[in-house]
This record gives sequence, C-alpha cells and structure tokens, in this order.
Amino acid sequence: MIPGAFSYHRPATVADAVKLLADLGDDARPLAGGHSLVPMMKLRLATPAHLIDLRGVADLKGIKRDGNKITIGAMTTQHELLASEDIAKSLPILHETALLIADPQVRYRGTIGGNVANGDPGNDMPALMMTLGATYQLRGPNGAREVAAGEFYQGAYFTALEPGEILTSMTIPVPAAGHGYAYEKLKRKVGDYATAAAAVVLTMSGGKVTTCTIGLTNLHETPLLAADAAKAVIGTSLDAASLQKAAQGAVAIMSPAADARGPVEYRKHVGGIMVTRALQRAAGRAK
Ligand SMILES: Cc1cc2nc3c(=O)[nH]c(=O)nc-3n(C[C@H](O)[C@H](O)[C@H](O)COP(=O)(O)OP(=O)(O)OC[C@H]3O[C@@H](n4cnc5c(N)ncnc54)[C@H](O)[C@@H]3O)c2cc1C
Repeated sequence: MIPGAFSYHRPATVADAVKLLADLGDDARPLAGGHSLVPMMKLRLATPAHLIDLRGVADLKGIKRDGNKITIGAMTTQHELLASEDIAKSLPILHETALLIADPQVRYRGTIGGNVANGDPGNDMPALMMTLGATYQLRGPNGAREVAAGEFYQGAYFTALEPGEILTSMTIPVPAAGHGYAYEKLKRKVGDYATAAAAVVLTMSGGKVTTCTIGLTNLHETPLLAADAAKAVIGTSLDAASLQKAAQGAVAIMSPAADARGPVEYRKHVGGIMVTRALQRAAGRAK
C-alpha cells in the first residue's frame, strides 16, 4: 500500500510540463487527480520515478463555449463539470455520466482529462466522448495536434498519446436541440466501475429515430461505438423488434473480460440490456 519512491514536479505552464516529460523520458508520468494513478502506484503496478503534477497549470482548467462547441480543459474535475450550468443545459448526458462516476470524494479530485487519457476500459468518459464525436487536443515536444476520440483508444491502457505528450483539452460539438440522451450503467454498488454501460444520443421526428449514436463502456478492451446497433433503429419507432436487433448488434461486437464483475456471457447479456434501456430512455427524452 506504499508507493515506490518518486520525485515530484509541479510545472506552472503546459510548455514546462511538456519539457519536463520530454527531459525525464519514460520514467515520468503526468499526475492529474491521482485517483487512478496513485492506487496503481500503491499496488506497485505503476512505478514512475517522476510525477509531473498538472494541477498548477491554470491553462488546463475551465469550460468554454464557442458557438456550437464546448471545450473542456483536461484538469477540470468531475465535480466542476457537475457544477456547470452550461454542461447541464447543452450536454446533459455528460452531467448524467459524471454523476455515475465513483463517489463525491473521487469526483472532487478526479479530472476529465485523467479519465479519458487513462485508457482503462472501465472509465466511463471515453465511450461517451466517442458517442458525442469529441476531439482531443494534445501537446508534446513536436507541438500541438488533434485526435478524434474515436481514434484515440488502441488497447487497454494503450492510447494515441505519444511519449512526452499531454492531453490539454477536449472539444465536444453540442448535440441538436431536442435530442434524446441516456447513459445506462450497471454496477455492483454505488461508486463501482461499470459491469456494463451504454451511452445513447439520438434525435427523433414524427415518432421515428432520425439519428442515433451508441457507445459501450467496459465491454471490450477499448470503448466501442456500436454502429450496426445504431443503424438498426434509424427510421424505426423503437418497436420491440428493432430494439432487439439493436441489442443483438451491440452484443455481437462485445468482448468483455471475465472478472469479479461476472463471466463473459453475463456481461454481454447485461450489456445488451443496457443498450435497450438507454435507447428507450433517450427516446423518452427526445422532443
Ligand atoms: C474508488 C474509486 C472508484 C472509481 N470509480 C470510477 C467509475 O465508476 N468510473 C470511472 O470512469 N472512473 C472511476 N474511478 C477513476 C476516477 O474517475 C479517476 O479519477 C480517473 O480514472 C482518472 O482521473 P485522474 O484525474 O484521477 O487521473 P490520474 O489518476 O492522475 O491519471 C490517470 C492516468 O492518466 C494520465 N494522465 C492524467 N492526466 C493526463 C493528461 N492531461 N494528459 C496525459 N495523461 C494524463 C496519468 O499519467 C495516468 O496514467 C474511480 C476511482 C476510485 C478511486
């Protein structure tokens, strides 16, 4: 339960953080809220020799709106997301998902940047970011670049981040007015990671689904977009047959790990149920 020895660095700018990471190489890790990294260090599953604490970097904080896009700084905490009226109004599924992460203590410290950069299949924000069509802004020794959330996740704890790069912010297009949304998460108890979870954003017209995106959490080594499942409900009124087709389409791409949250078949089964429930709840909210 005691982490290995490490040196602590507290840069004040993004440029300084990137320079420290580049200079210190593979032995250095960014530290955000510490609620994934520090537990790993206590278990000695991570043994960084240097921690680069991003908390003193003011430029990494805050929520800004520019027309139909919202940009969120990587060091914005889940608590700050929940306190934002703009997020609650324009991206209500982000508010709903943040509320389902861990507990208030973790949400006071845990950041959205740490959640999406971590690469743990159990993190809730990555599948949501893919569902919302978010873009991540990265900064490293070779400058700034952008990566779509849908292209960021390459394997468990393996992302598009290059050595020395940090995630500085993410930009999310605001979904259409009147859209329906839901994040359905099955967990063993309050504060737990998902056994299975599904994010749905859709629009409806005349009682029929016109657009739909479905994301899946903890049902594969990376977050997934369930494209065939979403296609199965377009043009339908979400009748029983199309809901069943969507659930089957989603289950077909799931390959969860068998772990303390249940065997593979159980997790796929409840994954399908999460998709069905999220679709129904999203449709009920669409105007
Ligand atoms: C009891 C408990 C329950 C939890 N339940 C859930 C849950 O239900 N759902 C959920 O999603 N999460 C859950 N978490 C994890 C929590 O949300 C973490 O806060 C989150 O995963 C990581 O965010 P952080 O700010 O704490 O990052 P840290 O732990 O500081 O960092 C995580 C990783 O990301 C890297 N990193 C951090 N910031 C950046 C950056 N800006 N650029 C590049 N790399 C970066 C770090 O180097 C590290 O590898 C839980 C944690 C605990 C302790």
